[in-house]
Amino acid sequence: MSAGTLSADVITKYEPVIGLEVHVQLATRSKIFCGCPTSFGAEPNSNVCPTCLGLPGALPVLNRRAVELAIQASLALNCHINRRSIFARKNYFYPDLPKGYQISQYDQPLAGHGFIEIAGKRIGITRVHMEDDAGKSIHEGFKDSDRYSYVDLNRSGTPLIEIVTEPDMRSSEEAYGFVTELKQILQYVQVSTCDMEKGHLRVDANVSLRPRGQEKFGTKAEIKNLNSFRFLKMALDHEIERQAAILESGGRVMQETRLFNVETGETAGMRSKEQAHDYRYFPEPDLVPLEISEAWLEEIRKQVPELPAARRRRFVESYGLREYDAGVLTATRAMSDYFETAAARSQDPRAAANWVMGDLAALLKQAGKEIEESPVSAENLAALIALIKEGQISGKLAKEIFPKMFASGESPRAIMDREGLKQISDESAVMKIIEDVIAANPKQVEQYRSGKSAVLGFLVGQAMKASQGQADPAAVNRLLREKLGSPA
Ligand code: ADP
Ligand code: ZN
Ligand code: MG
Repeated sequence: MSAGTLSADVITKYEPVIGLEVHVQLATRSKIFCGCPTSFGAEPNSNVCPTCLGLPGALPVLNRRAVELAIQASLALNCHINRRSIFARKNYFYPDLPKGYQISQYDQPLAGHGFIEIAGKRIGITRVHMEDDAGKSIHEGFKDSDRYSYVDLNRSGTPLIEIVTEPDMRSSEEAYGFVTELKQILQYVQVSTCDMEKGHLRVDANVSLRPRGQEKFGTKAEIKNLNSFRFLKMALDHEIERQAAILESGGRVMQETRLFNVETGETAGMRSKEQAHDYRYFPEPDLVPLEISEAWLEEIRKQVPELPAARRRRFVESYGLREYDAGVLTATRAMSDYFETAAARSQDPRAAANWVMGDLAALLKQAGKEIEESPVSAENLAALIALIKEGQISGKLAKEIFPKMFASGESPRAIMDREGLKQISDESAVMKIIEDVIAANPKQVEQYRSGKSAVLGFLVGQAMKASQGQADPAAVNRLLREKLGSPA
């Protein structure tokens, strides 16, 4: 079976039901219950203290910034914020979990009852809760002869939110669309970098099948710890095929936790599904309930920026962009900000959109740069567009100036001055001026055409005046003659 394509008979017979649990690392500088830094890539076990090492007697203190970010994320996901929530101990043993429990939230989470809309469909968000991350176990030895496993506790105590969805998705494509939109929203709000290579966003996917037309859900399997969207889709497609084969042969799907093998593209059973009671949840005695005042909530609400979907809509409505272009130009918050600055300063959104998606995108791609690093500032792009609009340079000349702006970071004016481009020697720009002059002086044109060749001087003068003396007189002369034809 090839990954990523479901056989047609599986799809016609069974309907997949998918719900996701997404762990997202909050972009705080310090950990959730202590002051240790969250920075990535430090010497193993260097960013640790008695609290995140789980030493006896060390007490947790909740990071206010982590709560703010968790609330911002919840608001961006249209959730209701519970003004009082409770931290709970979730007990289990793991070598990289020195406390012997995770501090999470259980029956009274921070937020819930939200949704994200994708392609006009609402995917429900059941809950958003806060928790601390565990450390990392490293199983590869540093030497060939090494038969040890290692534990790095730098990550221990990193703040996370877990976002749990309703079982509302019906295909792997829909799940892919959901996580894509979710990541974009969280990055816009800047609650997380969502850097998947660093594990800042990890997805557990729950999937079951039911015969089409049946209302009752089937038994689900959970695929743990998917750290790329492509793997999420591959794992779901494989799991859907696997469950379909079981059901087709009259078998029953087991409720279990599975792992996706990147090498084989298959999922394999890891353990039978644990139940909530296995964790012996109880309220965390070292932390008071989290109370959020109305005033604080309002303050945080004000910090939530315009979200991508709203921005896309506004770009279509107020700038007259096509849906597709609005999608491209809102891909990241930096992209939207860049476009919007260029559009506003140049007073020409259409042209700004074309430059950003065309010439600028091409040069950025070539240079391997993000728009945040663009050598051409939005202001300089706007200046270039304005020069074209004012007829000071032609579109053709602008296309030559732009790569120079990209290479040097200079304004279009600076480049024109340096390269003596101040003159309008560009043919099409001069031609435009000449056409205006001809249209505005029909009497003189008539005189010239009927033999009064001296009138040419007058027309040249008019063109020079219209260009504020910046046109190249030789070009004006030559092009005027061409345009008017020779006098009778
Ligand atoms: P559990 O108690 O087994 O952890 P939950 O009801 O808490 O299950 O749901 C965990 C996740 O699984 C949620 O994202 C939910 O949407 C999803 N889910 C629940 N039931 C099903 C099902 N039958 N098929 C697919 N996903 C499901
Ligand atoms: Zn610490
Ligand atoms: Mg559950």
